[in-house]
Amino acid sequence: MKLVHNEIPKEFLDVLPEGIKYIARQGKNFLVVEKVCCPKGHSLMVDTVRIHGEPAVKIRVKTGKQEGSFFIDAFWGSHKKLFDFLPEADAAAAVEAFCPECGTSLMVEDQCGEESCGESKHIQLILPGTKNRVLVCGRLGCPGHRLDIQKVPGGVIQKISGINFFGSQIDDYFGGI
Ligand SMILES: [Zn+2]
Ligand SMILES: [Zn+2]
Repeated sequence: MKLVHNEIPKEFLDVLPEGIKYIARQGKNFLVVEKVCCPKGHSLMVDTVRIHGEPAVKIRVKTGKQEGSFFIDAFWGSHKKLFDFLPEADAAAAVEAFCPECGTSLMVEDQCGEESCGESKHIQLILPGTKNRVLVCGRLGCPGHRLDIQKVPGGVIQKISGINFFGSQIDDYFGGI
């Protein structure tokens, strides 16, 4: 899968929050989530599953009667989600996410900004320092995601949250991890 590049606002690079790094690939610059935790401080990064060569974010999820793990691409704007089970639910289904280590819910109330979504639950990934976080829409096939970061002007956040590298896709399964 090819990485599609989007311009990263320069203002953001000056105030890059802890837990998000800036890397160069194929001569282009990308934002990559480097460290996110559950509300109790357990790291959600896994080195054993890498997407685009970077450690993925691992969470436990329930959707309908199924339960399994999600591995989320750490590249900002990618919505690549890999599963260790084959979801029966369609892309419009909502998921509930938990910390794989302690089982604490990662769900928070937040309205999705994507047109035709309207989901009110989001998966919260906490960046170091506890005040900053990444919010990912709780609906299976929705590309909605945003940064909730202190000390960054609202307009810059909007630009960053609008970055979509690949569009929405949940077509990549891998079984039997
Ligand atoms: Zn935990
Ligand atoms: Zn959504």
